Amino acid sequence: MKFVTFLHNGRQRVGIIDPERGAVWPIADFIPDFTGNLLDLVRGFEEVNNILAPADDGIPINDVSLCAPIPCPERNILCVGKNYLEHSKEFQASGFDQSSGPAPSDAPEAPIIFTKAPSSVIATGDSIYWNPQVTQQVDYEAELGIIIGKEGRGISNSDAYSHVWGYLIINDVTARDLQKNHKQWFLGKSQDSFCPMGPWVASADEVDPENLELRCWINDELRQSANTRDLIFDIPTLIETISAGITLQPGDIISTGTPSGVGIGFNPPKFLKPGDKIRITIEGLGELSNQIRSNADTVAPS
Ligand code: MG
Repeated sequence: MKFVTFLHNGRQRVGIIDPERGAVWPIADFIPDFTGNLLDLVRGFEEVNNILAPADDGIPINDVSLCAPIPCPERNILCVGKNYLEHSKEFQASGFDQSSGPAPSDAPEAPIIFTKAPSSVIATGDSIYWNPQVTQQVDYEAELGIIIGKEGRGISNSDAYSHVWGYLIINDVTARDLQKNHKQWFLGKSQDSFCPMGPWVASADEVDPENLELRCWINDELRQSANTRDLIFDIPTLIETISAGITLQPGDIISTGTPSGVGIGFNPPKFLKPGDKIRITIEGLGELSNQIRSNADTVAPS
């Protein structure tokens, strides 16, 4: 099943989407009396397995607008740095990487984990706001994201996938100058609107997360093309590492890292500019599309 949060007739609801049939169905059609958000649905982990395929025609996709699947995350957005070898090399060669020591190796010896502020989340179709007074170097990072469905601490590698509820596309938008100048990555990663995600969440049974083609275009130029099989630290290892001392809870999001082809991988770097369109696809997870806008010509999100 593919789950969405959508606006229809001015009301935000959770539903199922079938892109081939071009329709969405409110979850209340399947779980009577359900009035919650997607996080509530995630917390009802087992109940989702009982949802049957929609029988009627549903609401046409063109009649709704898609929100971020979890529009205002209450939980952590955990991210992984340098988790594809070729990206690790391009980042270190770029001069923007302050995370390596004086004798950097090409691959990290342990997963690099950081967080993005939940307030940075936006939906597909929303604008990414570029504030030239704050950053001059905005970059994109196409990534596979995981949504945790079952609480756990000390989760073993072999049990890790039983804690995953679903998968989605995340763009880990980054202000490279802030990432570099402030050493810690939080500021550069957490600017308002710097975490596009969606368009939907595919339930864990729908995809093989270890073999997904991921692509990212800037305007019409293909910049990133990779397969998730090339992750340095795979999903079970990430879950085992994070949960060793942190209780993972339903709704926690883990973004697994970006492959090579980001803007700083080019010489000279290809930073984003107002008007640029970023389009990311991952097999089975749809297309996440956002455009860069200068906040001089638009009103920033409140
Ligand atoms: Mg990233």
